[in-house]
Formats: sequence, C-alpha cells, structure tokens
Amino acid sequence: MIPVEFDYVAPTSLDEAMTALRDGGEDAKVLAGGHSLIPLMKLRLAVPSLLVDLRKVAGLSGIQRENGTYRIGAMTKHYAVSQEAGLGLAASAAATIADPQVRYRGTLGGTLAHGDPASDMPAILLAAEGSVTIRGADGVREVTAEDFFVDYLTTAVAEGEILTEIRLPAMEGYGHGYEKFNRRQEDWAMVAVGALVKKGSDGTCEDVRVGLTHMAGVPLRARAVEDALRGQSLTAESIAAAAEQAAEGTDPPGDLNATPDYKRHLARVLCRRALSQAAGV
Ligand SMILES: Cc1cc2nc3c(=O)[nH]c(=O)nc-3n(C[C@H](O)[C@H](O)[C@H](O)COP(=O)(O)OP(=O)(O)OC[C@H]3O[C@@H](n4cnc5c(N)ncnc54)[C@H](O)[C@@H]3O)c2cc1C
Repeated sequence: MIPVEFDYVAPTSLDEAMTALRDGGEDAKVLAGGHSLIPLMKLRLAVPSLLVDLRKVAGLSGIQRENGTYRIGAMTKHYAVSQEAGLGLAASAAATIADPQVRYRGTLGGTLAHGDPASDMPAILLAAEGSVTIRGADGVREVTAEDFFVDYLTTAVAEGEILTEIRLPAMEGYGHGYEKFNRRQEDWAMVAVGALVKKGSDGTCEDVRVGLTHMAGVPLRARAVEDALRGQSLTAESIAAAAEQAAEGTDPPGDLNATPDYKRHLARVLCRRALSQAAGV
C-alpha cells in the first residue's frame, strides 16, 4: 500500500530537529533508517503527519570508547556495530540482523526506540546493563536499560523526544555467546539468547548475564539462570543445569512460527549453547 500523505523535513542540527518535532505536534515522528517505520506507514498502521528525518543531523553517528564505555550515536547503523570487534556480544548480535540492505540502513537508536520484542539489540542492552541518552524539551536524561523497555513497542522515549546516544560497558574480561533461532536465515528471532560470562582464575563463574529476546512483550534478563550459575564451576553440566531455568518468569507470545511452549524449549536450548560459547566450555 501507499502511505497516507505526510510532510517531511531533514534538519541538520539536533536543535532544529527538536523544534520541528515540537512544532509538528503529536503526529510528528522521527525517521531514522525507516526499516520499521516505513513498512508500518505502508500498512497504514502508522499515519504520521510529519517525518523529521535524522539522517543529516550532525553528531548522531559513530562509536567511541571512553573510560571503559562505548558511546554509540543513535544513528549508527547495525553494520557499523557489527564491525566493531570490541563491542563483543553487541557486534555478534548486530551481525545477525536481517540482510546487508537492512544492516546498512537500520540504526541502533531506531531499533531500541521502536521496542519490538523480536529485535536483536534490546536484550543486549539489557544484559550489558547499558543505558541511553534521551533529549526532550526539558533537557537531557539518562535512562538505564532496565527502565527503558516499558511494554510491547513502548519505550521510555516520549512524544517529542529524541534518543541521541547509547552507552554500552566494554565488558572487559567477559566471554560472549549469541544464539538466535529463526525459521529462515534472515528473519527476526523466534527466540534469541545473549550470554556474557566472566570466568574467575579458578575456573568458577565470577559473573554472568543472560538476555532473552522474544520471551515476553519486552526483552528480559534470565535471572534464575544467572543465580544458578554465578559462583559455580563452569562445566558442561553446571551450564546445562542452569540453562534449564531459562524460561523461568517469561511470558512468550505465541505466533505463527512458534507456540509459547516451543519458545520455552528454545530458550533453554539456546541458553545452554550461548553460555557454553561465552564460557568456552
Ligand atoms: C526485512 C527486514 C528484516 C528485519 N530483520 C530484523 C532482524 O532480524 N532483527 C532485528 O533486530 N531487526 C530487524 N529488522 C528491523 C531493523 O533492525 C530496523 O532497523 C529497526 O527495527 C528500526 O530501526 P530504523 O533505524 O530503521 O528505525 P525507523 O524505522 O526509522 O524508526 C522506528 C521507530 O523508532 C522511532 N525512532 C527511530 N530513531 C529514533 C530516535 N533516534 N529517537 C527517537 N525515536 C526514534 C521512529 O519514530 C519509529 O517510531 C528488519 C527490518 C526489515 C525491513
């Protein structure tokens, strides 16, 4: 279908973008890579009266490391994230997003602001305990990953606000593993699991973080798995036992591809694989 008619502006500064959004009112929307918004407009599930395109806004793209934290501009493309080896788990997950066309246009800020529970990057932000910077009329605020994902397709980004930056800790000393299950090679995840494991010098699990994709209306941490593994020797057996808890506290939505029970099964299997990869076991 063809979208309903809309106005379009492409400001070159953040101040201009904020003004355009404010003047556009409640039906104005930010446009980033357009890989979620444009399909929704074509289906007429989104009917913005004004698109404020961020592609020319200076200073919103790029990856910098500063004091143990990666600062990633909201307009940074999935491809750039996938190529930054130091980003570890985030780079691995970004490399699995769709195909090169999507990775060259889709942005990290866009996928996070959109809040689709089937997207790859939200659970990574959560597992790494990252945060985002949001600019609004009242100034700038920092929101932790824990507080950012509110509900299905709903995040802390409010009307008239722009997500400008993502902060991801460098996770020095952590191994990582990312396991995604989909029906076709380049699809969204039926379920995905991202794991970060820090091994102590005696081979025990000093710290572990597990992020779950598509196991609820928002990304989740697999806290029961983390609690079961932290402090244990990292063996195939301890990992398998901990991974059995992966569906604990989840509420996976059933869809055409998978029933909730099948997703719970996938979470357990993928969790074991992701943890084994992260722990090198
Ligand atoms: C064929 C196809 C396959 C895909 N497969 C996958 C996949 O396997 N895994 C995956 O994770 N994703 C997948 N995607 C989605 C892709 O990752 C998109 O890039 C992402 O969902 C949205 O990012 P975007 O930059 O395109 O945002 P847009 O579509 O431009 O915007 C999405 C929403 O976020 C808002 N928004 C965007 N940027 C900002 C900002 N900086 N501040 C405030 N609000 C903002 C917009 O107003 C809009 O509501 C796929 C997309 C397509 C078309």
